[in-house]
Amino acid sequence: MTTVDILAIAAHRDDVEQTCGGTLLKMAERGYRTGILDLTRGETGTRGSAEDREREAAEAARILKVAWRGALDIPDGRVENTWENKLKVARVLRELCPRVVILPYWKGRHPDHYTASTLGYEACFLAGLKKLDCSAGVSPALVTSVVPTLSAGSAQDRRQDAGATPHRPFKIIYATLYYDVRPTFVVDITDQFEARFKSLMAYRTRFSDQQAGKDLFPAQKEIRNRVEAMARFYGLLGGVEFAEPFLQKEVGLVDDLMMIPVKSI
Ligand SMILES: [Zn+2]
Repeated sequence: MTTVDILAIAAHRDDVEQTCGGTLLKMAERGYRTGILDLTRGETGTRGSAEDREREAAEAARILKVAWRGALDIPDGRVENTWENKLKVARVLRELCPRVVILPYWKGRHPDHYTASTLGYEACFLAGLKKLDCSAGVSPALVTSVVPTLSAGSAQDRRQDAGATPHRPFKIIYATLYYDVRPTFVVDITDQFEARFKSLMAYRTRFSDQQAGKDLFPAQKEIRNRVEAMARFYGLLGGVEFAEPFLQKEVGLVDDLMMIPVKSI
């Protein structure tokens, strides 16, 4: 069965590219297997269809070197923390067995984003319950896999496996870029920044300069300026050029005072 070390869960295709794509790429370059689970398929976007998004998500996944990327059939704009949705996410967790899960931060402007955070956390909890059958009552057309490393074996076999073996991630961290909150740590993505930006620009139907929705979407040059400004800001906090911000609920554990990074004065 295919597994990943690190799984990023987000509401929309292109969220991961904006909030933690550099970190995923960095981890892949270190030899870890990374994955992305998009909860929705982007069918209600002003620009482009769900099919356009799927193609673009696959291209972005290739740039970020992820081992697996899939999307659930939760309606775009209607991410709700229901029992059924929690089981859908829990099944993917059981199938992929990630040690680390990256969720969106639990506050934000877009309801899909903050709901995805709670939904993801509760799914991580449920996925570890030994007596819970996650395959019960969930529709069969569940995961659209755009990076096909999970395609071996029939969907039916995978569903049974996924429903049967409990797994709870060891670590949950929250990508905070969409919300103005002080991160508990940042990841240096100086070497990954250009590729991360390229992965975002892979969503051509959304971000290329065009007439449709031009009052809603900034021009490409402006997007570049914004993405760079944010990465520089968080880089500055960590004493590096570009970084991505994260928050963990737990305290940091230190073994050697001499090795604590980031200069104080
Ligand atoms: Zn989003």
